[in-house]
Amino acid sequence: MNNFKILAINSGSSSLKFKLYDMPAGNICVGGIVERIGSSEAQFSINDKTKTLPIENHENAVKCLLEELLEQNFINQLNEIVGVGHRVAHGGEFFKKSTVVKEKELEKIEQLGELAPLHNPVNAMGIKVFSEILPQSIQVAVFDTAFHQTIPSYNYLYPLPYSLYQKYKIRKYGFHGTSHQYVSQKAAEVMDLNFKESSFITCHLGNGASICCIKNGKSLDTSMGFTPTDGLMMGTRCGSIDPMILPFLEKSVCLSVDKIEHIINNEAGLLGISGISNDFRDVQISAEKGNLLSKIAIKMFVKRISEYILSYVSELKKIDGIIFTAGIGEHSAYVRREICKQLSCIDVRLNNHKNRDNENIISSENSKFKVLVIPTDEELVIAKDTYKLVHNLVKV
Ligand code: ADP
Repeated sequence: MNNFKILAINSGSSSLKFKLYDMPAGNICVGGIVERIGSSEAQFSINDKTKTLPIENHENAVKCLLEELLEQNFINQLNEIVGVGHRVAHGGEFFKKSTVVKEKELEKIEQLGELAPLHNPVNAMGIKVFSEILPQSIQVAVFDTAFHQTIPSYNYLYPLPYSLYQKYKIRKYGFHGTSHQYVSQKAAEVMDLNFKESSFITCHLGNGASICCIKNGKSLDTSMGFTPTDGLMMGTRCGSIDPMILPFLEKSVCLSVDKIEHIINNEAGLLGISGISNDFRDVQISAEKGNLLSKIAIKMFVKRISEYILSYVSELKKIDGIIFTAGIGEHSAYVRREICKQLSCIDVRLNNHKNRDNENIISSENSKFKVLVIPTDEELVIAKDTYKLVHNLVKV
């Protein structure tokens, strides 16, 4: 088996997150983030040490990163990095799995920017920059939407005129696919089940949040939709709301479309209701101090999650487990307990000690369904998918 160094990259509009892996072992050599790209006071954090320096653009950020990897001896020469895996938000209906990116694929990712204007163009730029600066490395795209490409049409279509789907591809795509896939595979491993025969409800509860209904190892439905704004209430995103609120805000409140977009993506959710913060911990502290709106925000957050879980329970005939992951899902015993209280109608029961200690399986013996906490690792999925594709290409 060939040993390679693989970089997993998540490019944002002004940031670049990275992790360098030794594959196939999957060991992390180093990780970090470049933030505030484009500023004279950009922040470059590597192995928890941060320095401030001017970084003009993504190209400079990548150059800085590679220099640092060489200087700190994480690599001896650049061609040790055989593959670079990039998180790409939207693969539309075109990309059903991770793929090696050449000119044609890059063009398609750019075209799909129409569906994810905030993400795909910067993801594509990240791929371009690495292919220019590290021309010997193979670029791989890993799509947030790919895992959800198995969702059947009765779940991915909206009850709108069918022509809107045909003409404009307006449908549910779903996001966080790498996370839902990773934690369900890991849970199957923990429970000694064959993944392809296992069924889970996975709750990715971070600043962005989504739920997925997985039948026989395949995504059957998910809460995010045409965009990552749909579904659950999130840190700053509203999730599902009555669609007529949007034209009302435009026509009767005279807000511009840009302002409305900003409200539903950046001023809503936990922040919008509590008025305190988008960060769950802050809202919880304020609720504990008696702030009524913070208490309501948490109640709404929990209620929506339980509603989705209950609707997915009714969709799956057999359930091997309900999984919690991401910042809130992994760390908040309180949220898990509150959600499971709402699920007592379907005989879900927690073991309070195991829940408090964030153990893998936190349900009690008499629970109808197992409840699990599985830390997500999207970068590892990116590195593994990249390794698989790169390995096939370079093997002799
Ligand atoms: P994202 O990757 O979507 O930005 P994360 O998965 O890092 O988000 O999750 C961030 C959220 O997790 C924040 O709302 C934060 O308050 C919450 N969180 C982290 N640790 C805890 C904790 N111990 N208790 C409650 N919430 C937590």
